[in-house]
Amino acid sequence: MRHDKPAAELAVLYRGPLASCNYDCPYCPFAKRVDPPELLRADRAALERFTGWVAATTDRRLSVLFTPWGEGLTRSWYRDAMVALSHLPHVDRVVIQTNLAARVDWLADADRATAALWTTYHPGQVTRERFLARCARLSELGVRYSVGVVGLPEHLAEARALRAALPGEVYLWVNAADGHHYTAGQEAAWTALDPLFGWSVRPHRSLDRPCHAGETAISVAGDGTVRRCHFRPAPIGNLYDGSWRAALRPRACDAALCDCHIGYVHLKPLGLRDVFAGGLLERIPAAWPVGSRSAR
Ligand code: SF4
Ligand code: SF4
Repeated sequence: MRHDKPAAELAVLYRGPLASCNYDCPYCPFAKRVDPPELLRADRAALERFTGWVAATTDRRLSVLFTPWGEGLTRSWYRDAMVALSHLPHVDRVVIQTNLAARVDWLADADRATAALWTTYHPGQVTRERFLARCARLSELGVRYSVGVVGLPEHLAEARALRAALPGEVYLWVNAADGHHYTAGQEAAWTALDPLFGWSVRPHRSLDRPCHAGETAISVAGDGTVRRCHFRPAPIGNLYDGSWRAALRPRACDAALCDCHIGYVHLKPLGLRDVFAGGLLERIPAAWPVGSRSAR
């Protein structure tokens, strides 16, 4: 009898040309712009090409995280991609980062064991009540989702109110604000909301340390250019000429620091793939709610 090896797992972070957003957060790390129709057409075509690659690449177990520069879920092609990929048997998870401004009822058509959302609450752009109503609908639909906030001092009261209003089974994460130094007291205040805030508050030393990025995780641009992660600019191959396959191998990081969750979650010495086992791309810890599984 023939015993096939289990297919290798690959996490794919996809970011196409789309950069427009219906919100205008003052702390937005991305240059905001209005996307002209031709760019939107190009973004749609690139996404459809990518979903075709996912559908055809059946010799891997794939997990996909869409990380658009702007907001994807106000565009039909991202919603369609989420639904289509969720039904593929070799796709373990498909996730998108979203501000949750758009309605979420379309997720009723997705396989909710596979589709999940990484959502972020942006005080000042939406009321807490409106954001919570979207969360309630996701819970009703049985969709896995995390909720996050940027840990700016002016967000603390809103973040506390949000944590108090969210169901206990929903994980609330806090990202340290770029360039912001946290006193011990401030760090403790945010850690009371997100027990894992300590991973975000200081950048991680990564130079010469082994990282899954470029081995079992890759970053893909709209034209198929493959990089090991969103933070290292050197291409290592292309998705559409097959060169990505030969590029995957154990690698050490060549940057001094890694300070973004979607990067350092792959930095091997940190062990965060265990902490987020089963919820790596949607940012849900394995032991959440606290006490649901024995902590490591
Ligand atoms: S919702 Fe996200 S992408 Fe949109 S402006 Fe705010 S931070 Fe930027
Ligand atoms: S440690 Fe961070 S910057 Fe370095 S390769 Fe891994 S994800 Fe990329």
